[in-house]
Amino acid sequence: MVRALLVKHWLSDTFAEKQLKLYNCPVCNCQKASNHFVMSSCGNFPLISVCNNCSDFHYIEKIDCTCSICKRKLPSTYFQHYRTRFKKNGMRLRVNTNCKDCSKKESSIVSKLKRENPAPQYLTPCPQCGKICYEKVEDIPEGIVGTNGPWQCDHDHKTKEFRGYLCKRCNTGTGLIGDNIEYFQTALKNKKIK
Ligand SMILES: [Zn+2]
Ligand SMILES: [Zn+2]
Ligand SMILES: [Zn+2]
Repeated sequence: MVRALLVKHWLSDTFAEKQLKLYNCPVCNCQKASNHFVMSSCGNFPLISVCNNCSDFHYIEKIDCTCSICKRKLPSTYFQHYRTRFKKNGMRLRVNTNCKDCSKKESSIVSKLKRENPAPQYLTPCPQCGKICYEKVEDIPEGIVGTNGPWQCDHDHKTKEFRGYLCKRCNTGTGLIGDNIEYFQTALKNKKIK
């Protein structure tokens, strides 16, 4: 009877331990549960040893950045930063140049545009670079000069007008640089940049 109780006790202990595994943050020197860390995809260990609080405090540069949409100069904490991508100086990389307020507005505009204009099928050409767009980079067959999704909804930031869907590379600009001057000319024409 006593033995059975002990076994039960031991089992629940290990279960609780598994649920509440603590990790030590070397910056604040605190033991914290896994929800305070960026965990690996299997959830077994923190990808970054520094806890999220310390990361936000110490690894986001204390500089002012200009938002590319509203043009306000704001502290970098107004911008989204990757948790696992860093600049050469060891500070976290900014996700984009849109401030939090504009990002929020943008994402609601984009989801509305996406609802009204469904994305094209994959294995169809990107309207800008003309390459066949595969859903993911790893889907592009060996020897094929393709491009990859996910399709990016392109719109005019000022008029909120829908412009079309672009492949991921064209949207981030990597489809243009060092690739083909014609893509850039098409891009200019599409965006009506004078
Ligand atoms: Zn910490
Ligand atoms: Zn802004
Ligand atoms: Zn493209």
